[in-house]
This record gives sequence, structure tokens and C-alpha cells, in this order.
Amino acid sequence: MKRDARVVRPECLVCSGSLGEHVKLPGLARCADCGFVTADMTVSDDELEQLYGADYFHGGEYSNYILEAPTLRHNVELRLASLAKCVENARAKSLFEIGCAYGFFLDLARRAFARAEGIDISEDAVRYARNTLGVAATKANFLDHGVGEGFDVYCLWDTIEHLREPGRYIEKIASVIAPGGILALTTGDIGSLNARLRGRRWRMIHPPSHLHYFSSQTLTRLLERHGFEVIMVEHPGVARTLRMIITGVLLLGKPKSRWRASLASFANRLPFGDWSVSLNLFDIMYVIARKLPSEQSSIPRYPMPLTSK
Ligand SMILES: [Zn+2]
Repeated sequence: MKRDARVVRPECLVCSGSLGEHVKLPGLARCADCGFVTADMTVSDDELEQLYGADYFHGGEYSNYILEAPTLRHNVELRLASLAKCVENARAKSLFEIGCAYGFFLDLARRAFARAEGIDISEDAVRYARNTLGVAATKANFLDHGVGEGFDVYCLWDTIEHLREPGRYIEKIASVIAPGGILALTTGDIGSLNARLRGRRWRMIHPPSHLHYFSSQTLTRLLERHGFEVIMVEHPGVARTLRMIITGVLLLGKPKSRWRASLASFANRLPFGDWSVSLNLFDIMYVIARKLPSEQSSIPRYPMPLTSK
């Protein structure tokens, strides 16, 4: 994971504009044309795979993902309820989740949909999802040929910000989704009041695990570029256990240190760590979009074609 000023930055994945150093948020780059914000670094696939090993879900981003199951299940229940309002006749539809982690959402979704499958980069998480929950999860790369094609509904919960090339994911979903299909995703909203007030200290800014920072405008523009129409934008509350909050405060985006790790591990064992509180800082957005039939997708692809005088 290196930041290299000599390397020409890639073009903006939202509008193909040019990225420059973010004046107010050091370490991030901003598109001069559409305002999209991204981490100013290059990360390889191998580095990402290492980042999302078993450590990520146990002591990395989460103190212990399995321990958080009741709270995480509660959160995905709410997401499923909002999704159900936008999908007609779900019981006849198929759903594919990219970044399914330990399979808590798939476990619920398979009861509401005819078929629910998912993939994740984490071997440890997929093993738990398959062996303990018995859901159809596999370790796979969505961008590989033949992976996750032809489903009616695609979900990415808190995943798009982690992807190295989210534009390619949206592009592939647009090309393999069933006609009239639905794409549902959640991610931080850098245009939210809380993100703007917190600046570089906003809790969602921690590259390299979070690489991209969308606002509702830049996310909508990316989706429209690939022939989707946004039909819902919400800022739902998220339940967290006290343990998750303590881990977040101590470890997220912080330099590795022994005392932080020991304190987090201590917090992990506290009896009240299980207490769950629902918080809404209105800085997490939940977006649902529908794929327009290609003939209706009149939205031009960016960059706009030059008109001759
Ligand atoms: Zn842009």
C-alpha cells in the first residue's frame, strides 16, 4: 500500500475526470469535476487479500464478528425490510450478495427469496457461512467470468468502499443483472453533515480498508452512468454493541499499538459488551437502484461526447 506522488493518478471512476490531492483531507484525492473522493494510494489484490484474512473479523475492524451476530442480524433484518418494499414478488426472485462475510444476511434472505447466494474474499468468513449457517456462500472474485451472473437482485452491504475497482463491479452487475433488476447497497455518505463536521476525523475514513468515499450525488452519478435509476436513498440508523463501539474508537484507522490491542481485547470480555445501542448519525446511506431497459437508458455515459460546432 503505497502513496506515490510520481505516479499519475487513475481517472475518476465516477466521471472519468481527473483526481487531485484533497485540500482539506490529507491522504485522499478528489475529482475536480464531480467531487468524488478516494484514497490517494495504490493497493494490490494480494495486499487486500491479506487485509481481509481472519484477523480482519477478529481484532481488526471488528473485535469478534461472531460475538456480534445478534446485533449484525438485527441490522440486516432492517435492510431486508427496506429492500422487500422495492422488489415485487421476492419469493420468485434470486438474490446475490457481494461481500457476504459470515452469511448473516444470506441466512435471512434465503427465506424471503427463491434463491440467495453470495461471495466473499475472506476464506474464514465463507467457511463459517457454509458450514455453520448452511448458506450458499463461496470464496470468489465477482469480476471473474461466470461468477454471480443472471440474478434479479444484487446487494453490497458496506462493501463498495472496500473494493479496489468499484466501477468495474457496477459495470458487471449492469451487464449480468436480470431485466428490471435491483441493486441495493449501503456505504458512508461523505456529503453528510457529520462527515463534513468531522473532516479527516470522520470514523469512516480509514484507508486502505475503506478506499472510496461516495456522497449520494457521486454514487447516483456512478449508478446512472451504468444504466441504473436510483429509486431510494435513506440514511438508516445502525445498531452497535458497546464492544463494537469501543473497538472502533480504539482500533479503527489508528496505528497498531500493543496497549490499544490489549484494551480492545479487555473490552471484548466485558459483561456489558453485548449491550446494543441504535445510533443514527445520518452519515450512512442506503441506496436502491433499478436497472433500466437499455432502450430507456438515455443517460449519456461520461465523459460527455464532444459536440461539433
Ligand atoms: Zn469525477
